[in-house]
Amino acid sequence: MYIPEEKVSEILNTSDIVDVISESVILKKSGRNFFGLCPFHSEKTPSFSVNASKQIFHCFGCSAGGNVLSYIMKYHGISFPEAAKMVARKYNITIESETINPAKRKEIHLKEGLFRLNKTVMGFYFDELKKSSNGVKARNYLKQRGISDDIIQQFKLGFSLDAWESIVQVIRKQKVDRNIAVQSGLILERKQEKGYYDRFRNRIMFPIFDVNMQVAGFGGRVMDDAMPKYMNSPETPIYNKSRILYGLHEAKQYCRQKGFVYIVEGYFDFLSLYQHGIKNTVATLGTALTSDHVRILKGYAPKMVLVFDSDAAGISAAKRSIKIFMKEGVDTRVLVLPGDNDPDSYVTKHGQDAFNTCASKAKTVMQFLLQVSIETHGLSVEGRIRILNDMKQHLILIQDTALRSLYVKELAETLNIDEKAVLEKVRDQYLNRSDKRLSLMDENINEDMLESDRREEQMVSMMLNRPETIEKIKDSDVLKYFYSEKLKQLAKKIISMDPKKEAFITNVMANMKNNEDQELIASYAMKDFDSEQDVHQTARSLINRIIRVRKKQENTLTNKIISAEKGSDSEVMELLKQKQAEIQQLHSRL
Ligand SMILES: [Zn+2]
Repeated sequence: MYIPEEKVSEILNTSDIVDVISESVILKKSGRNFFGLCPFHSEKTPSFSVNASKQIFHCFGCSAGGNVLSYIMKYHGISFPEAAKMVARKYNITIESETINPAKRKEIHLKEGLFRLNKTVMGFYFDELKKSSNGVKARNYLKQRGISDDIIQQFKLGFSLDAWESIVQVIRKQKVDRNIAVQSGLILERKQEKGYYDRFRNRIMFPIFDVNMQVAGFGGRVMDDAMPKYMNSPETPIYNKSRILYGLHEAKQYCRQKGFVYIVEGYFDFLSLYQHGIKNTVATLGTALTSDHVRILKGYAPKMVLVFDSDAAGISAAKRSIKIFMKEGVDTRVLVLPGDNDPDSYVTKHGQDAFNTCASKAKTVMQFLLQVSIETHGLSVEGRIRILNDMKQHLILIQDTALRSLYVKELAETLNIDEKAVLEKVRDQYLNRSDKRLSLMDENINEDMLESDRREEQMVSMMLNRPETIEKIKDSDVLKYFYSEKLKQLAKKIISMDPKKEAFITNVMANMKNNEDQELIASYAMKDFDSEQDVHQTARSLINRIIRVRKKQENTLTNKIISAEKGSDSEVMELLKQKQAEIQQLHSRL
């Protein structure tokens, strides 16, 4: 599926976002905006807003945002072309598919072929499990593991025969294109002789669905001690391991309802929890959790609970994942189940209520890391110093300063160390980081920077809402004085667009390729600009202010270096020089 750009603009210009969103959210008008309860996070008072004249939505609670197409994608968990088709249908816009170029057509053909083959093979595996005499062993195995018939049916579990060419024959019978068959990873080329053989043999088969309910790949598990225990399809044009989560196609609606999602490691963990009514769950399937996974999940639930085995491997996997969650700024808890349990064994033994009770006591990431560190180093004097060294690396990753000081306090109390000493350590760590622009040392500079951020945000809002100011902003070269890289990049993109075109915000939005940028644009576009004021005057003073503050900061630094040199405070001097270099480096990157 490919939607030509002019069709996308037709859809955006014809559709009405209030009309579309009203189908899934009750909207009430208040001032210039419509408000309703956000479908992307759980809330009791409406912070989800829709603006009809700008044709955007933005949630003040979870900062979801975008245009009508991003809404449909996020709400239904579907791809861009599907969302475009859906809205087009509503407004009777026809999409012809003739405009596809040959390379694109080839790619689409390949992908469709792969999905079709996977679906056929899924049916084959499923029938072998359910109906054939060959499947008895597999049926018994699943029964013994407590997997119900309903679950087998819903997730289309299957069985791959203990044979070398059963899928090879299916492929031959269906006359599947050889390229598609080989790329699917279901069969492999023989090395010694001509021909192919099945990849999956004598295994319980788990089809892996994408969020659009299409079979993207398979996982297979042995029923005895044979190795490898698990085997998955290789990466294919339709199976991207760093983006697919097992079970999300069924779990997504429950993740939205509950406002959080459990992340487990394996097929049986997932199926067992699901069967016991804990349906807001996904599994990562042995591959490490990626930023993409987390970003995809953020579309369904703002909070995540990592459920890991309590063994050493589980804990180190949890530690690896935590970094990603912190980077993505997600509210994350870590649930380590008591005893030697994994989620499957725990919920099977103790049931849904016990699991929920246990989950309600899940630790925050910091509590978890602290506990692991204490278990590793002990609470002797040296142990506590090591713990402090461990923890400072995590603490600086927390963006929210209020939250950080809470944790610093907690850490100081647990270790029975003076809070100031802990802060000192964290500060050192901060200053040593090469990518850190913010130093805790100079309060004035920090305040200036916060102000810069605010003004830079204002400027982006202004460009979106009053595109007539863009030319002035462009001429002033003010962007190179921006502190925030992110805002600078956004502003650059906005400037590159034609401000005279109708529906400017809609156009800008359509040109933002990734979700995060769309959300930012929606939040800045949502801010209202008072039309009484002379907008050009406002633009001028904003430009001047940004440039002045930035220059002042540099002067302050230079003066400090001079006075530090006089007083021969070498440590401070080093620090300041480093800072100046950073700022210069920022400029030179322009
Ligand atoms: Zn929200």
